[in-house]
Amino acid sequence: MAVTKQFAVEIDTELSNLYNDEWTINQKILGYKDSLEFYVKNPRYASDNVEHYEKQIEILKQKLVPIKKRQRELNEIYNQDPWTRAYLVVSSDGHVHKDMYCSTCFPQTRYQWLVQYSNDDEKTIVEDAGQDACTVCYPSAPAEVLNRPSRIVTADKLAKEKARQEREAKKIARIAKEKANAPTASGEPLKIIRSIYKDGKISYEWIKTERTAVSYWLNTQSWAKFSPREQYELDNLDLIVRNLAEKNGVSFEQQLKILNNKLKKRRD
Ligand SMILES: [Zn+2]
Repeated sequence: MAVTKQFAVEIDTELSNLYNDEWTINQKILGYKDSLEFYVKNPRYASDNVEHYEKQIEILKQKLVPIKKRQRELNEIYNQDPWTRAYLVVSSDGHVHKDMYCSTCFPQTRYQWLVQYSNDDEKTIVEDAGQDACTVCYPSAPAEVLNRPSRIVTADKLAKEKARQEREAKKIARIAKEKANAPTASGEPLKIIRSIYKDGKISYEWIKTERTAVSYWLNTQSWAKFSPREQYELDNLDLIVRNLAEKNGVSFEQQLKILNNKLKKRRD
């Protein structure tokens, strides 16, 4: 191998970025072509949209020209004195291949170029790929290597791990917020009786936030002057005060005073 590792990685990194740029632009073109097709088929919605999308597609096609040109230049350098390369198929059980034309893959397979392995000998690549090594590309891979988990850390894996941690952090924050907003110390919602019917049937309702618990208390107390409260309503009021007191770390009487002050303010 005449080229240095650094040289190979540099060329492949640039080339890999160029292929990604090309892919992104082509996806955009496909999107615009879809819209264009819609407006051509439905001229009554079209107005000046057809012209707009045609122009956008042309702009993107022009952007591809220098990208393609640079790809050709870099490919020529590679073809003069090829070095080893490694590609990981982008999917949950994607394998590592030595080129993008492996017979086990499909034409539409998306690859992630593992440029960090460019110009490394195949043994190193196979050792790191472990069970992810493609046995068609690397037929000499020893069985004990193929039984080992992959040691390749890809940008993709790192991004997935980061996303997982972010989701987890958001979940914890959401639970903490729900608990902070809850009408109880435990974070659980409060089950109260909504009404008792003449036939004795009971319907319940869940109070999920402290805010709702407070407004239930205030509303029920306000209505008391128009109609006498049912026993179950009195029980609900009592349950709310008890749970809010526990949550806020105050006595029942103190919590009742807080609520009565709110009620007074509302009446003033
Ligand atoms: Zn392969």
